[in-house]
Amino acid sequence: MLRLSALTLALLPLIALADGSAGNPETLTERSNAKAREVLDATVAAMGGAAAIQGVTSVRLTLEGETWPRLQMTTPQAPFQSGHSKETLLLDLSGSRLRLETANSGAGFEGHNTVVLKRGEGTNYDHRARVATAVPAAQASQQQFVQYQRRLPNLILRQALERGTSLRYLGEDVLDGAPHEVVTFVMPDTQQVAVYVDAKTRLVSKYELAFTDPLAGEEASEVLFGDYVDSGGIKVPKRWEFRQAGETASRFAARVEINPAVDDAAFEVAADGYAKAQAVASELPQRVEQLGEGIYVIQNVAGQNQNTLAIAFKDFVLAVEAPGSSAGADRVIQRIKETLPGKPIRYLAMTHHHGDHIGGLRSFIAEGATVVTTPGNRAVVETMAKAPQNDRLAKSPRAQEFLFVEKGRRVVSDGDRSVEFIDVGPHPHAREMLIAYLPKERLLFQGDLFAMPNNDAPPGPPQESSRAFARFLAERKLKVDRIASVHGRTVTIEEFVQAAAPGEKAASR
Ligand SMILES: [Zn+2]
Repeated sequence: MLRLSALTLALLPLIALADGSAGNPETLTERSNAKAREVLDATVAAMGGAAAIQGVTSVRLTLEGETWPRLQMTTPQAPFQSGHSKETLLLDLSGSRLRLETANSGAGFEGHNTVVLKRGEGTNYDHRARVATAVPAAQASQQQFVQYQRRLPNLILRQALERGTSLRYLGEDVLDGAPHEVVTFVMPDTQQVAVYVDAKTRLVSKYELAFTDPLAGEEASEVLFGDYVDSGGIKVPKRWEFRQAGETASRFAARVEINPAVDDAAFEVAADGYAKAQAVASELPQRVEQLGEGIYVIQNVAGQNQNTLAIAFKDFVLAVEAPGSSAGADRVIQRIKETLPGKPIRYLAMTHHHGDHIGGLRSFIAEGATVVTTPGNRAVVETMAKAPQNDRLAKSPRAQEFLFVEKGRRVVSDGDRSVEFIDVGPHPHAREMLIAYLPKERLLFQGDLFAMPNNDAPPGPPQESSRAFARFLAERKLKVDRIASVHGRTVTIEEFVQAAAPGEKAASR
């Protein structure tokens, strides 16, 4: 690719003036691109030089530390009970191979997985459940490697060098009190990133991208790099921090090895005796599951592996869970209206305050639904309803109304059909946590207390969250035949007991 030096670019306007070609003036895009290249070149030089950065063929990166994922804590407000996470990433850039091992715990769940992608094929090894699941081809493609290149500033710069035409100068900004210059470019997975360069040291302080936060609306997601050290002539960070909407979501110590030796064995995983499971399609089928007269689970319409329960009463519909986004919830509302026509959606209950469970709340508020929740979630719902989002609620504002589940239980009934909302909290996953129970139908709907995989994979050893839920059901002696879920497929009580409390009898029968 032809790359003009900064000097040549600086002369271009003079040349244009000299020959009087007013028909082809230098445009703002050209000037912005030229300025961004200057910033990039200075940064690349400070970070080790273009030859060294382009000469990176493999990377081993370990990130370990505490996590406070936004809207995934046991409470909606601080003080938070943090989780722990460790990941080791081995990237073989010249061989298009990746191995990512992650171990994490928090909010009643723990996981230990290794994902290996090589030559367009991939496998996910779940060491807890001892299951090997094929990664669908679409997710094992070259594009999937790109997101991991955002783990390290050096690899981001390498991408920027390769994608020079998309470079633009954004301007100057102040980050943590220090002046910065900011350039932006588009990565091969179409993600547009902005790179913050310290005006003094010329090192990369962070990259950021735009996302829609369910609480705060349009916001930035940032990864900050710091405490640079030298590794084989390249500057690499020892500090790695993830911020969402201005709040720290994780703080990791980073260990980076540039160009470690890689061989085939590094991409093999010891998985003797592991069960083999079907690949889970990257697009789960959207469907409506009928569980009884007027009782439906709207599956995967709001997003991947996200379900909403819809129940018909005489004069209205009650829905449980507003997952995904406003746009996803709009599609769910449409599907509910097609399935149960002619009745307004009067209530929307949320199981708990986590982002993937309330992301679509605003659309249900716009639809006219009263929010059923526990008192501790009042502030989170109010903040969300006021968030600057570009959606239906923004176009036709409406104040949220609440129906609170106080003292652990509240019944919604029309004299014929009844739904009981029961707070199973304090629970390891969330201090306040609702389930919807239909006593007559012996049916229960829950989120994040238990999840049965959507494929043929065994659920693995019970998680703390599921064990606590099994104890709760046994103590309350709820009569349950089936459990439907926000994530994962509907199960019988026998399947649940087998998975969440093996060795126990289905106490509710
Ligand atoms: Zn959750």
